[in-house]
Amino acid sequence: MLKNCIYLDSNATTKVDPEVVEAMLPYLTDYYGNPSSMHTFGGQVGKAVKQAREKVAALLESEESEIIFTSGGTEGDNAAIRSALLAQPNKRHIVTTQVEHPAVLSVCKQLESQGYSVTYLSVNRQGQLDLDELEASLTGNTALVTIMYANNETGVVFPIEQIGLRSKECGALFHVDAVQAVGKIPLNMKTSTIDMLTLSGHKIHAPKGIGALYLRRGVRFRPLILGGSQQRGRRGGTENVSGIIALGKAAELERLHIQEATAREKQLRDRLEQTLMATIPECEINGHPTQRLPNTANIGFKYIEGEAILLSLNQHGICASSGSACTSGSLEPSHVLRSMGLPYTILHGSIRFSLSRFTTEAEIDRVLEVMPGIVERLRALSPFKNDQAGWLQQQALAHR
Ligand SMILES: *Cc1c(COP(=O)(O)O)cnc(C)c1O
Repeated sequence: MLKNCIYLDSNATTKVDPEVVEAMLPYLTDYYGNPSSMHTFGGQVGKAVKQAREKVAALLESEESEIIFTSGGTEGDNAAIRSALLAQPNKRHIVTTQVEHPAVLSVCKQLESQGYSVTYLSVNRQGQLDLDELEASLTGNTALVTIMYANNETGVVFPIEQIGLRSKECGALFHVDAVQAVGKIPLNMKTSTIDMLTLSGHKIHAPKGIGALYLRRGVRFRPLILGGSQQRGRRGGTENVSGIIALGKAAELERLHIQEATAREKQLRDRLEQTLMATIPECEINGHPTQRLPNTANIGFKYIEGEAILLSLNQHGICASSGSACTSGSLEPSHVLRSMGLPYTILHGSIRFSLSRFTTEAEIDRVLEVMPGIVERLRALSPFKNDQAGWLQQQALAHR
């Protein structure tokens, strides 16, 4: 098993912080009571769950009663969207974007097949939304605007409060998938236009399978998961206690570290990007240069395949990612980069490095040491090199 890899894939998942592990362990061993039980043994677990809820609430500057624990980002997104529609049965329209996570896009696709209409807002070459397009799409029939805070592939950050103001004007509910923003951008629900907000534990150094949905007080809610009266009847099922304790600890640590960690990550990320740009010809940064998360670098290397770069990096023990997913045997380029209208020459050659507070200078140095050689070798093998016209024609056919 690989243990000492250089992990630069933190937008996919993060290392569980050892302090988080330490905080959750007793709830897998000694403190196994059910938080809903009448006895003291269960009651003390219930108290710990309440404290964890307070810590998550503090990270969002919200109230404890506004936090619903979920199984993660996907459940939070599903719950928010379904609730908004069930709570407003006479409205049949949703506004979202083309670059959302599948946890939002797949739900919207299914809702379309059930008779709802969905507007998928476009983005420009730098991954930004057009607020005029948003405004033109909103009607009295719009039940929900669901838009991510920051994109997981490019790190591009959307102007959430401006979007929220426009959504409120037409009477729509506003849900934000903030899975990538939490811990990287300071959030304050007291002064925000957001009605519902999704976060996920494993993107902020807690384990997989735990997350939370913020629900503004007074916003009508219909649960996705029905069961017992846990969590004020808003999410049935005995709580994932150890996960909740972990999420509470992770939220506390994010709040504590946010300023110094994001400044450090940004400095490392900028050095990575600038040095790559300076040492490797024909590459570019995907996404807006400044309206972007501090930890994410999505870089397009012309004329080569992102997957080939990843395999080479992997041989050096470096973990990164490409937006592409292998579906039905064909390598589909990322829907996010495609929506941005990137040219064929870089669409397939884009990879993402995503940092965390555990990333070190030495790890970035190592990537900078190996990348120029990897790109040079792959370009020497690239069919583009020998037959530019043929390669472009083939790419054009593949993207009709
Ligand atoms: C990871 C991620 C999700 C899904 O969260 P899970 O906890 O893995 O279900 C949703 N949205 C975004 C933007 C993500 O990055």
